Amino acid sequence: RAKETGKARYHLFDQSMQDEVRNRLRLETDALQALQGNEFSLVYQPVLDLLSPGGCPPVAVEALLRWCHDGEPVSPVSFIPVLEESGEIIPVGYWVLEQACQQTVHWQNNGAPHLRCSVNLSGLQLREADFSLRVREILDLTGLPSTSLVLEITESLLVDAEGHSVSSLRELAAMGVRIALDDFGTGFCSLGYLNRFPIHIIKLDRSFLVEAHDNPTQQAICRAIISLSATLGLDVVAEGIETLEQVDFLLAENCRFGQGFLLSHPLSVADMNLMLSR
Ligand code: C2E
Ligand code: MG
Ligand code: MG
Ligand code: MG
Repeated sequence: RAKETGKARYHLFDQSMQDEVRNRLRLETDALQALQGNEFSLVYQPVLDLLSPGGCPPVAVEALLRWCHDGEPVSPVSFIPVLEESGEIIPVGYWVLEQACQQTVHWQNNGAPHLRCSVNLSGLQLREADFSLRVREILDLTGLPSTSLVLEITESLLVDAEGHSVSSLRELAAMGVRIALDDFGTGFCSLGYLNRFPIHIIKLDRSFLVEAHDNPTQQAICRAIISLSATLGLDVVAEGIETLEQVDFLLAENCRFGQGFLLSHPLSVADMNLMLSR
């Protein structure tokens, strides 16, 4: 009897592993054609000023990549690693940058002159020899002022950064592009990194807010990150705001900018147009 259950379980496990491997292989091959096949699109999540969330246009929009694969949406959490492994993230990354810059110029020319555009980077992109040059070209081509572009990187990228990635970051910063440290607090970044690299914005990871209301330690960490950032002259954007209590907490701590489902889900271009026209 035990043997039978064991065997059934083994069989199930085996089957689901096979399915997983097969799915992954299919994602890998299909990802190579997705760019040509126009299967990617961008949605935009507003970053709002918490002092007047409804009263003024968003300060920025974060471009988030979407892939519709065989008619089904696939989460970036599962397809970004696939694109990174094949190197396909390089052309896809340039496509994202160009689309997002072009769209932002359009919004700047249609009632939101100060809107900034935030784009997520994968570590591989910064290692490209001519990355900062290509960004310059995209800015020139689309007409987006360099000071309107924010590039989001993660702590792990800084921790593994070799010389070249660091010079790319410095070149970008010298052009006026702003650098944001995404998901801050979840990686292994020491606070010294904030001084050593050209960082302008801290994005406080969602996990701190999730626990802040009933976890004094998480609350203290939030508070410390926000006040340290102020001291260093960095802006803080709180990620993943889902409740009014979280907004109150952030305002009490002098965190001025936020993003989250409570304020706005990521929006299609059409829905962003509506939001900006209000
Ligand atoms: P991220 O850059 O930290 O983006 C924030 C993620 O949190 C987005 O998920 C967003 O939809 C989600 N989010 C926003 N507000 C809330 C909230 O209130 N509650 C919850 N639970 N979630 C919220 P998404 O779009 O699935 O993206 C996941 C990750 O994929 C991004 O995390 C980013 O690391 C990566 N990614 C997305 N687009 C790109 C891209 O164009 N290039 C690269 N390299 N990575 C990307
Ligand atoms: Mg991000
Ligand atoms: Mg983030
Ligand atoms: Mg995050």
